[in-house]
Amino acid sequence: MHIRMLPLAGLALVCITPMLAQELPRLMPADLFRRNIGTPEQLDKQFPPHRIIDNIYYVGTESLASFLITTDVGHILVNTDYERNIPTIKDSVEKLGFRFEDVEIILGSHEHADHMEGDALAKELSGAQVVVVAEQVPGLEAMRPGDKPHPMDRVINDGQTVELGGETLIAHLTPGHTEGCTSWELEVQDGGMSYKAVIICSIGINPNYQLYKNPERPDIVDQYRASHVKLRALAADIPLGSHPAMYRMMDKYPLIGQSPNPFIDPEGYLYEIAINEQAMNLRLEEQRMAAEGK
Ligand SMILES: [Zn+2]
Repeated sequence: MHIRMLPLAGLALVCITPMLAQELPRLMPADLFRRNIGTPEQLDKQFPPHRIIDNIYYVGTESLASFLITTDVGHILVNTDYERNIPTIKDSVEKLGFRFEDVEIILGSHEHADHMEGDALAKELSGAQVVVVAEQVPGLEAMRPGDKPHPMDRVINDGQTVELGGETLIAHLTPGHTEGCTSWELEVQDGGMSYKAVIICSIGINPNYQLYKNPERPDIVDQYRASHVKLRALAADIPLGSHPAMYRMMDKYPLIGQSPNPFIDPEGYLYEIAINEQAMNLRLEEQRMAAEGK
């Protein structure tokens, strides 16, 4: 058994780890945070709505991702962003030829306002059911734009699915960035092949996060590490994310129409995990050194 496993382990190291290690720029969490958020204008500026692959469409802004997953019996909207972004998202849905009223289910990446603040208004305009993950609930209860209570029509748990019109999304709890950070997996078809798409919640570290000896969240680093492991194991073909920079949308968008589909990018998926993991380790070390006065 050992004889068989060793060459395999060696192969994996040769193929993946050194390549990523050599090519990884030294980015800190603050660099990745800026990369994701962009400029204040980009948070609100409509990005041309487009089909990503199969029945997944982009309906977000330049720096806040929203995805429309269409089916014959209605649609799933992942991320309503800030409440002020809803008219833009609605317009993008309509520009693609779909009706916002046909959104039946609303899901979110995580309980931060830039991804889920619009849930109440989006539900009001579409009549959709808002499905949330149990660990998101405390954060969402506190998210009340205009003092509206946050709608939560159904609460699911890690590993459970959301189904509509033959489409199935699997909820993978990937905490660290928040307690309820959830990555959504779905299968798509393209050119007669099946591919796994994963909307990565976020494994980013906000500049104010305390990683080293955080008294309120003593397990924050363990959460991030477990999420890195879990996401790697998902081995997505099509990386997507709560911010489009997480999957280099701006670089891929001009290539739409080319074959293979530019959003098929398993290396990019692994890169996003690796660059965030490295940033976390760098920041953890920085905070440890500072705490120890070095
Ligand atoms: Zn966030």
